[in-house]
Amino acid sequence: MSVCDVCGNDYDQAFTLRAADGREFTFDSFECAIHRCAPQCAHCACRVIGHGIQARGFVYCCAHCARVSGVPEATDNAEQPA
Ligand SMILES: [Zn+2]
Ligand SMILES: [Zn+2]
Repeated sequence: MSVCDVCGNDYDQAFTLRAADGREFTFDSFECAIHRCAPQCAHCACRVIGHGIQARGFVYCCAHCARVSGVPEATDNAEQPA
């Protein structure tokens, strides 16, 4: 049995997540893992649970949020406009 670091649930299927900086966390659900560990978009503050976009030392959820935050070259689509 392991206790979730976020909600305190003692759950037999809890799992351990080791972050890039080496810290380890115990969670009973991905929801709690996202709450604690997922980066937040520097523009709209939503949790970034996909790849997101990193630019100028910040993480953004999408190219729009990066562009309006001063990263004009950010794009969601690698295709060149016609
Ligand atoms: Zn939890
Ligand atoms: Zn955003």
